[in-house]
Amino acid sequence: MSEIVTSVIDEAKSRNASRIERVTVELGEFTMLGHYQLRFAFEVLSKNTLLEGAILDLQTVDGEIECSCGFRGKTSPSNDRPHALASAFECPRCGDLAKVTGGRDCVIRNIAMVVPDV
Ligand SMILES: [Zn+2]
Repeated sequence: MSEIVTSVIDEAKSRNASRIERVTVELGEFTMLGHYQLRFAFEVLSKNTLLEGAILDLQTVDGEIECSCGFRGKTSPSNDRPHALASAFECPRCGDLAKVTGGRDCVIRNIAMVVPDV
């Protein structure tokens, strides 16, 4: 999260923004980061910066798995799956352990900032 906050602030500074209103972050299903933890970290890290008071908009992106049998796709709904154990998933086709190929990233999608007219 600190990398995200740093890059958002850098971006805002390079555009001479006076304030940041909203940051949209895409969060992969397998990043193992909880929304609550992220929001908390965001709040702490944004104190006394351009980011203070900005809204953190978290969007979850589905993970994707790939299996040696050729299956490739989304995992089954995993709302109650403990994400700490999510490094491998059973393939829904053959039951083998499949590799995680997507949904492991945390990406900044959009930054809404206030740039004063000069
Ligand atoms: Zn398989």
